[in-house]
Amino acid sequence: MKKHTEDKRQEKAKTNKTRRRPSVILLMFILDLALICAAGKCMYHFFHLPDPKVEASERKQEIVTDSQKTQKADTEEKARKEQELLKKQAADIYSRNREILMLVNKTNPIPEDYKTDLIDLQDGKNKVAANIYEDLTAMLEAGEKQGYSFCVISSYRDYAYQQSLIENDVNRYTGNGFSASEALDKTLEQVMPAGHSEHETGLAVDITAADYMVLEEDQEDTPDNQWMRTHCREYGFIVRYPKDKEWITQISYEPWHFRYVGKEAAEFLYEHNLSLEEFYELLEL
Ligand SMILES: [Zn+2]
Repeated sequence: MKKHTEDKRQEKAKTNKTRRRPSVILLMFILDLALICAAGKCMYHFFHLPDPKVEASERKQEIVTDSQKTQKADTEEKARKEQELLKKQAADIYSRNREILMLVNKTNPIPEDYKTDLIDLQDGKNKVAANIYEDLTAMLEAGEKQGYSFCVISSYRDYAYQQSLIENDVNRYTGNGFSASEALDKTLEQVMPAGHSEHETGLAVDITAADYMVLEEDQEDTPDNQWMRTHCREYGFIVRYPKDKEWITQISYEPWHFRYVGKEAAEFLYEHNLSLEEFYELLEL
């Protein structure tokens, strides 16, 4: 009986041992693998060998960086070519329209020997340069045919008249408590000094809605002014002092001041969103 029990116990132990074997083998296999990996890492460190994983990642990074560099160079090259083309187009337009593209601003006075032929507008109050007359009247008539109504508030001015505008504004500001230099600074934010106004060339006109003859920014809200700002380029005019270019033109936004530059230049400036100053930067004169 005892022997029988002993046999059973040995048999059970044997069975347990057999059951445990696969898990022990698996555990040993995992341990071996870990040791090999750790030894491998140590080897890379010890012999200063490059880790293949790190090396592959760095190589991938280099490829990405190279690709980005190529892409950046391509973009820069494309922009350079576009700029060159723009400069060439600007130079071509300028060569055909020098006279009407004259740049007049705070730093570019009208040449002392400048002369222009003037012509009376039909209202009998205004004069403009003869070479803008046809397009100006065509623009006013086209708008009126569409139901809009305009008033030419100001056109050609001579030097003395421009000077009197400056003096009037300075006196108004000093009367309101500003010092003489503050008054002049405030005046020059909106009015060009004599000898520097486009109005002295006869190429510029101030046009408002007939029922709102006010030279304020809200002139832009009138449908008449909106029509004119939208269509003026078709007749060779530009909004000379745009809202978003005040820091370039040095004059605050004037939705009523239209400057004649000719149809070709007007379309070009509109298409590339350029002020006249930016057009001259392209010319690199
Ligand atoms: Zn004006």
